[in-house]
Amino acid sequence: MQEKLLGNIEYNYKTIKENIANAAIKSGRNPDDITFLAATKTVDVQYINYAISLGLDHIGENRVQELLSKYDGYNLDCADLHFIGHLQTNKVRQIIGKVSTIQSVDSLKLAKEISRLSENAGITTKILVEVNIGREENKGGVMPDRVEELLYQISELPSIAVDGLMAIPPICENEQKIRGYFENMRNMFIDISHKNIDNISMNTLSMGMSGDYREAILEGATLVRIGSSLFGARNYN
Ligand SMILES: *Cc1c(COP(=O)(O)O)cnc(C)c1O
Repeated sequence: MQEKLLGNIEYNYKTIKENIANAAIKSGRNPDDITFLAATKTVDVQYINYAISLGLDHIGENRVQELLSKYDGYNLDCADLHFIGHLQTNKVRQIIGKVSTIQSVDSLKLAKEISRLSENAGITTKILVEVNIGREENKGGVMPDRVEELLYQISELPSIAVDGLMAIPPICENEQKIRGYFENMRNMFIDISHKNIDNISMNTLSMGMSGDYREAILEGATLVRIGSSLFGARNYN
């Protein structure tokens, strides 16, 4: 392990925790109400475990293959593992029972498979419904006007528990614009929670990454997913 990198991770971890706490307070909430999830794609498991030793308690992977190759190494006694990337239906089997939450559910077909395999395993898998809040083509997530219908359909399935919504808004330079997307997500989140749909909880609103997690919290995020601000720039080699 590189000592310098560990020092950076420790410094970054503390800085992010402070920023999260400040944004939480500014938005009228308690710092403990915001979950800090580290997006760990491309990061070696030793560095992930180091962050866990600092107090990090939620991690998220994007790719099934990478998750499986790192799985035995994670210190999951102290942290929850989420799946946050695009998930193909034929790969669900490989992660059921290994992840606490699948954040990226955007079709009934995928939800049915998660439910079926969870039922077989005798467990319930927590999920978030991913919303394509910017209505971008070629991007994961269900279109905003289809979210409610999908939630009603999922609510009929056994062994799957909806805990909230997730979004990856379009990349934009304009802070006003990004805050608008976050605000639309919060409004949807609140509207749905008021509908009291059976088996559907709206506890988690997952939005905000390294560049915009403060703004996301100010607009109501309860979970932020942070990669490069914690571990440094990703190296895909
Ligand atoms: C990589 C990733 C993040 C974190 O991105 P950073 O900009 O490095 O913080 C968050 N969410 C998802 C789904 C990701 O794939």
